[in-house]
Amino acid sequence: MHILVSNDDGIHAPGLRALTEAMLPLGKVTVIAPETNQSATGHKKTLDSPLRIRPVQDYREGVNAFAVNGSPSDCTAVAMLGFIKEQIDLVVSGVNMGPNLAQDVTYSGTVAVALEAAIFGLPAVAFSLDDRALDADYSPCIPVARELARATGEHKLPPMTILNVNIPGTPIRGWRVTRQGVREYRDQLVERDDPHGRPYYWIGGERPAGDVKTEGTDLWAVHQGYVSVTPIQLDLTAHTMIDALHKWNINF
Ligand code: MN
Repeated sequence: MHILVSNDDGIHAPGLRALTEAMLPLGKVTVIAPETNQSATGHKKTLDSPLRIRPVQDYREGVNAFAVNGSPSDCTAVAMLGFIKEQIDLVVSGVNMGPNLAQDVTYSGTVAVALEAAIFGLPAVAFSLDDRALDADYSPCIPVARELARATGEHKLPPMTILNVNIPGTPIRGWRVTRQGVREYRDQLVERDDPHGRPYYWIGGERPAGDVKTEGTDLWAVHQGYVSVTPIQLDLTAHTMIDALHKWNINF
């Protein structure tokens, strides 16, 4: 099995290193990751500027590694569009510094790496750790990622479908198949003045919260100490609204 490993935190992230270690016993590993942190860039495709792909020397013995000046999903795309000559069988992303739960998946570059792989018809899994600390311990993620990647290689996935895996930052009690929960963002627009007296803005505020009480959701599972495994699909159609939409009185 040839596994492509990427992330959105950048080539130097500790979680990328942990995920690389996790994959090594499963087959050949190639790492292609953004050269800088690309968190919360979503499923971005770079079309209006050149992509540079730089080999990273001595990333790890037995692993070819490259840094790209593009988005997370660009990393998958360049590999699949011919930069990597050998066939790729599985794409894994992460392990992200911080969780990707509920609506987070729409912002997540970590998830976008996997979605891009699904567009190319490959099985893919995104991994995130529910710990944002700079010195977070990624070692508990290694057996989890290895086992889920092995199982994904064995069972495959339906078309246009990926797995979004969130690992608790607390002792792991097991795993749960989950659905997306509901996040509550607490963003605030912070206005400051630059040295010339002109205003600039940050999207700041507190870390997102969310409903951790509803059983069966990703937020609930991670809060309970379970590894959350959510199947995600690229088809965002709100099927439950189609009938109601037909009945709208629209004339033109
Ligand atoms: Mn990230």
